[in-house]
Amino acid sequence: MIEIIQIPVLLDNYTYLIIDKESKVSGCIDPSVFGDVQKVLEERNIRLNFILNTHHHSDHVGGNIELKKKHDCKIIGNFFDQDRIPGIDIKLKENDTFKIGDSSFTIIETSGHTIGHICFYFKEQKILFSGDTVFSLGCGRIFEGTHEQMTNSILKIRSLPKETKIYCGHEYTESNANFAKHLNPNDSLLKKKISEIKRKRSESLPTIPCLLGEELKLNPFFRFDDKEYLESINLKNMSLVENFKRIRIMKDDF
Ligand code: ZN
Ligand code: FE
Repeated sequence: MIEIIQIPVLLDNYTYLIIDKESKVSGCIDPSVFGDVQKVLEERNIRLNFILNTHHHSDHVGGNIELKKKHDCKIIGNFFDQDRIPGIDIKLKENDTFKIGDSSFTIIETSGHTIGHICFYFKEQKILFSGDTVFSLGCGRIFEGTHEQMTNSILKIRSLPKETKIYCGHEYTESNANFAKHLNPNDSLLKKKISEIKRKRSESLPTIPCLLGEELKLNPFFRFDDKEYLESINLKNMSLVENFKRIRIMKDDF
């Protein structure tokens, strides 16, 4: 069993602490900053064992070096991104597994947002830390990779069990919902979801984690081969990559 502590940092980032309950071994996914993360570690009396980085952007690695100095923890990142992950110690590749105490995770390579982006998948717990690859009702911008890479990355995530809980790097759900609604204003399931999102945000509650099964029905970036959906948003069905690319470009311009 792992316990997950969600820490809202910066404007809209999420850093996560994970603690393997039996062994008390701990990890921190994408420490954006030192201070806010250290504060929680101190309150909970946790000595940090590992940092896990999904990608090299500063809002995901900003706390690496100071936390490493303080806790003497090991930093885990993508082998192929080792030159850009500050303080990296443990270099993993696609399909590699690693254990936080008794809880093991697998690396899923998800280039697109950046080249060398990775997700951490805890198969037994059905938990995915998706960084900036997918968000609730959205996906990351294509900064370094190609639309084809991002399509393949999303296909990998889509193939996980529907019960998978997705812990992503940002609270972008409300603005993503506006885009999804703009595409498909009459979707009653989406309308229901939006009122739930609005309620949570009005109480300053996170909308994350989200559930893969629900995202498959509502997230425009998971639906690039759903013919009915494409028709409803006036997109001609072309190749998977073309379908994805046109939805991504519409969002970029939204
Ligand atoms: Zn990023
Ligand atoms: Fe980010």
